[in-house]
Amino acid sequence: MSEAVVIVGSGLAGYNVARELRKADAEVPIVLVSRDQAGFYSKPMLSNALAGKKTAASLVTKSAEKMAEEVKLRVLAQTRVTRLDTTARTLTLSSGEVLPYRDLVLALGADPIRLPLQGDAADTVLSVNDLEDFARFAEALDTAASGQPVKRVAILGAGLIGCEFANDLLHRAIQPTVLDLAERVLPRLLPPQSSARLQAKLQEGGASFRFGVGASAVSRSANGSGLTVTLTDGSTLETDLVLSAIGLRPRTQLASDAGLSVARGIQVNRLLATSAEHVYAVGDCAEVEGHLLPYVLPLMGQARALAATLSGKPTPVAYPAMPVVVKTPAWPTVVCPPAAGAEGEWVVNETDEAIEARFVAPADSGAPERLLGFALQGKATAQRQAFAAQVPAILA
Ligand SMILES: Cc1cc2nc3c(=O)[nH]c(=O)nc-3n(C[C@H](O)[C@H](O)[C@H](O)COP(=O)(O)OP(=O)(O)OC[C@H]3O[C@@H](n4cnc5c(N)ncnc54)[C@H](O)[C@@H]3O)c2cc1C
Repeated sequence: MSEAVVIVGSGLAGYNVARELRKADAEVPIVLVSRDQAGFYSKPMLSNALAGKKTAASLVTKSAEKMAEEVKLRVLAQTRVTRLDTTARTLTLSSGEVLPYRDLVLALGADPIRLPLQGDAADTVLSVNDLEDFARFAEALDTAASGQPVKRVAILGAGLIGCEFANDLLHRAIQPTVLDLAERVLPRLLPPQSSARLQAKLQEGGASFRFGVGASAVSRSANGSGLTVTLTDGSTLETDLVLSAIGLRPRTQLASDAGLSVARGIQVNRLLATSAEHVYAVGDCAEVEGHLLPYVLPLMGQARALAATLSGKPTPVAYPAMPVVVKTPAWPTVVCPPAAGAEGEWVVNETDEAIEARFVAPADSGAPERLLGFALQGKATAQRQAFAAQVPAILA
């Protein structure tokens, strides 16, 4: 019987579990398997790397070898897990090795959702969800289809990641045009006034927006100078590069093939345990009691709780209110959305320098106002801790 805890995935979730587990238990053997090169990097930096003049290589703060030495673990990089057998408690690896585990942690991440696009350049559409994607993106910015550096980028999706990339491209004097089927930026996270101000600030910097339309085809322009995006309303947009940022889908295939319970993500309870004994899931691939929260703060809480559980002290994960910083320096924004389906309304205070939007529960006569979520912008972002302290925990 193996003594090892095996972690699959070298993203922030996998490496945070490894670090926390090593802190809790100096001796347990830890093996980390990753299909990529397994260097440590902070994924949120992918959408502000241009401003910081970062490359895919300089984003890696520690190599796989350094992580192996520092955390005292065995790292199997460039190695894909192809099969999970929960009865034999083994993983089959792309190298042919069969790896036994005492406990298994799935930290598989999520895949970018791809739009089914027509056109002879549909395969040039990029998305940026890991270092290799970023390397391709950076290279494409230097040399567009025309052979010239990119001057225009069409971004599909006006959500958090689409807006962050739009802002980042402005640092390279590249004009982004952001398209979305919705009517405004970050519609699920912001009230209309806050969306409007963020959009206006990005426009002041040189970005353009087209709402109520999506892309249906991407083709090479007739004169060979770029790409033509055909939109769902029949109009067209000329650009040099198309970046898709329409969302992510948790990687669940390995788990569902092994018979684990899967809904939107790999289903786990508050101990982060899947439906199979000795198998856990964390990070973007995990759905924790119905909550799919693909951000850094939730996975850090998961890593701490799981490390305690794996070292013999069962510890349920707790989710306090966890604000997310939207990396749009053109108009700093912090969001803490209300729980899905929460009843209430936005109350918005606007000045030239700040917007303070509070999502409050319907007033009970005489009862104090209950804050269920918020969106702070401009100077108001400084108050995020004070606001977060008033919002109910997601999982107490
Ligand atoms: C551009 C961008 C900006 C973001 N900005 C923010 C932000 O500002 N704030 C915030 O809180 N969150 C942000 N996020 C979200 C945050 O980065 C993610 O929630 C987090 O990094 C997910 O980490 P993860 O380890 O779960 O997944 P990943 O980092 O995707 O890691 C998954 C790992 O699993 C490996 N893997 C998958 N399948 C297999 C297999 N079969 N065999 C072996 N290995 C496998 C992969 O190679 C990879 O190493 C951002 C995300 C993106 C894309």
